[in-house]
Amino acid sequence: WQKIDIEYRSHDELHEMELTFNQMIDYLKTSYEKQEMFVSDASHELKTPIQIIKSYAQLVERRGNANPELVKESVLAIDSEADRMKKLVEQMLLLAKNKQLQPRLSVNIVNVMDDIINVIDSITEREISIEKSNDFILVKADQDQLKQLLYILMDNALKYSEKTIHVRIFKKATQAVVEVQDYGKGISQRDQERIFDRFYRVDKARNRDTGGTGLGLSIAKSIAEAHDGKLSVKSELNKGSTFIVSIPVLIED
Ligand code: ADP
Repeated sequence: WQKIDIEYRSHDELHEMELTFNQMIDYLKTSYEKQEMFVSDASHELKTPIQIIKSYAQLVERRGNANPELVKESVLAIDSEADRMKKLVEQMLLLAKNKQLQPRLSVNIVNVMDDIINVIDSITEREISIEKSNDFILVKADQDQLKQLLYILMDNALKYSEKTIHVRIFKKATQAVVEVQDYGKGISQRDQERIFDRFYRVDKARNRDTGGTGLGLSIAKSIAEAHDGKLSVKSELNKGSTFIVSIPVLIED
């Protein structure tokens, strides 16, 4: 903090300082409010699985002795809710970590996407097509975070569609662009404005079954922005969605 000698300042200078201070205060206020909102949303999201776990535990305590089927069912439900809590906590930590500055190295984004597709190919039967304009598109990135960002988009495309997924990677002016297109349920115009918000899910009830936490896209967006990039979506209900990531290339043409 610098000590400011107000006496020797002109009226204009003082006015400018007042504006700067007001901007700083607004910024701090908004950050604080966002933080508060996050804590309250996070506790709310964690409360649901805790309540479900408690109800099943009480059920087993009351009626478990006479009913082994009920015990089995309850244990499975408890296990799945505990998994959900684990995922929520892991994703919250990721969100916090993305804010920290990690070392950035030159990374071939085409390779990162190839690795992800290979992993997905080994665990699902889903058809994924990839079009690449070059085999090397270098960006300055934290490789793990970049992988996380692209994985979230692929994972969503798998979760919310049933047909082929098209991936395109190309250079456009100063940007490396990755598009992930699916032909699934799509997202309405109204929801497109909210899906990047923390904990927002279009269909909460159904998405509990798909294991969604509503944090994936907000993590993906914060990673893109931390790399001076952008994440956007084009989508039409019942036709499908295309998520578009652009990150500055390291070597321009
Ligand atoms: P979730 O863990 O619920 O998938 P995300 O933050 O990744 O959370 O996504 C938020 C919501 O956006 C999802 O719940 C889903 O309703 C919608 N969504 C995300 N990706 C797609 C997609 N490819 N197609 C249709 N809806 C999507």
